Amino acid sequence: MVDQELLKILACPSCQADVELKGEKIVCTKCGLKYPIRNGIPVMLIDEAER
Ligand SMILES: [Zn+2]
Repeated sequence: MVDQELLKILACPSCQADVELKGEKIVCTKCGLKYPIRNGIPVMLIDEAER
């Protein structure tokens, strides 16, 4: 599970907005891109994100 403190310092690489945890993904609160979590580590890469 992803640490809440870590979530606070993460930002969307596309628009720099805050992100939140939704299920198994990190979701941008602004543009809605979804970033995967692999082995407990958020993959904050636009190339890896999905709409
Ligand atoms: Zn975004």
